[in-house]
Order: sequence, then C-alpha cells, then structure tokens
Amino acid sequence: MRRKTTAFYSLTVAAVLLFSACSVFAGTHNDETAAPITEPPLDTSAPTEAKTEKHTEPTAETTAEKQTEEAATRRETPSSVPVTQSPYPSGVEIDKGTTSKGFKITEKDGITYIDGIMIANKTYSVPSTYNPGRLAADCQAAFNEMKQSAAEDGCELYISSGFRSYTLQKSLYERYCARDGKAAADRYSARPGNSEHQTGYAIDLNTITYSFADTTEGKWVAANCYKYGFILRYPEDKESITGYRYEPWHIRYVGISLATDIYNSGLCLEEYFGITSRYE
Ligand SMILES: [Zn+2]
Repeated sequence: MRRKTTAFYSLTVAAVLLFSACSVFAGTHNDETAAPITEPPLDTSAPTEAKTEKHTEPTAETTAEKQTEEAATRRETPSSVPVTQSPYPSGVEIDKGTTSKGFKITEKDGITYIDGIMIANKTYSVPSTYNPGRLAADCQAAFNEMKQSAAEDGCELYISSGFRSYTLQKSLYERYCARDGKAAADRYSARPGNSEHQTGYAIDLNTITYSFADTTEGKWVAANCYKYGFILRYPEDKESITGYRYEPWHIRYVGISLATDIYNSGLCLEEYFGITSRYE
C-alpha cells in the first residue's frame, strides 16, 4: 500500500514537472514571437538610382546631404506651398535696358529675364516667395526625351536634384557655411534666392561628383545635352565668370535654339549674354 502511494506520488510529481516544462517552453516561444523586430525593415520604396550611386570622391554635396535634399524635394508639392502675397506687381514687365552684348533685360514679379530666359546667379536673385514646387514643364519634358535618347545609347540618366525651394537652399547653404566657411561655400553653393535650382530650370544629374565627367553618361551629356535644350551651366575654367566651380552634373534648360548657340560659342551663359555673376 505504501509502495503504491509512493509510486502514485512520483507519477504525479513527474506529470506536474512535465506540464510545467511544457508551459515554460511554450511561454518562451510565445515571447520570442512577440518580441519587437529591432532591425529596420528593408526600404523597398527607395529609388533604384540611390542603389547605383557611388560616391568615391570628395564632393561638394555628400550623399547624406543629397538624400536630405531629395527627401525634402519630394516633400515639396505645390499643395504644401504657402500662399504668400508677392511684394512685386504681378505680371507687370519692367524694361531694364540691355546687356553689354545687346540682349534685352526685363523684370517681372521680381525675377530678371535676359532675352526671355529666367536668370538666377550671384547678381540676379529670385524672390523667396517664388516657389513653383517642381521642375518647369518644358524642362521636365526635355529631360524625359533626353533620358530616353541616352538610354538608347546605353546611358542611364537620372535626376539627383531638380527643383529646390528658397527654404531648402537656405538650410543647405547654412550647413555648408558651417562646415567649410562662407568663402568656400560660396564657390559651390548658392545663397538662398540665388540658386538656379529655385527657378525650376536646373537639374543635377546622376552622381554629384567630379568623376561624373569621366563616366560614359557624363561624356554623353556634355556632347549631347544641347540637342535637348540644356547647357552645362558651370563649365571648367569659367569660375571667375559664373561664380561657381566646375559642375559637370549641373545642367540648365534654355531651349534647343539657345542651347545650340551657346554650345557652339564655347561660352558660358554669363559670357554669352554679357552679364555678371557677383554678389554685391
Ligand atoms: Zn546644381
């Protein structure tokens, strides 16, 4: 009788232990399943061009900064643009004479046009309120056509930075000044209001690096972009005239006719029009 009781007791203890073990195991398993994922998920929404970017050389604008620009550019839609009363008389064209080369200078809504071309450089600024929110339609269409033609020649072109608002340019410029000092920053970054990117007619292509000039794409752009209405805005050895260091990645839309004339002249935009690019 005592042996039977002992045996029953042992069996019960064993059963309880087994049950407890199973509960602990099940509990641990559940905890693992419910544990938060600490690793960030893969960002499948990232643009494919970002993956192909290689920044192997020192560059005026680093990858991180450029990504910030891109993100900010993406956020900027016309719907988010605050409606601000312009201090300039809307739509009134003011005659400002002619350039040293005889091109007509006009001003409308605080923006200067030379021979009908919107100008933003160190001499001519655009109002902080000028905020189209995106590339101009003709510039975007010309880029799309150029991209298609380049692709047929085996070149992949993409926009790294297009339209940039006054506010975004202000934050970029201030960051560059803090990093490199004002004098150095002024050689590669426009002050807010003086950036050609604010006009909606400028595009930074592919990798924003000096090595872009030596790539198949960089050579293709230099040789062919005028056919689509673009000019290399800041050519090599023109810093004293344009006010900016050589930027093989920065193109400006001016239309096919003018782009072809400028390309054939070998002049930069300021030389061709007979205007300056200097902060007063
Ligand atoms: Zn640019």
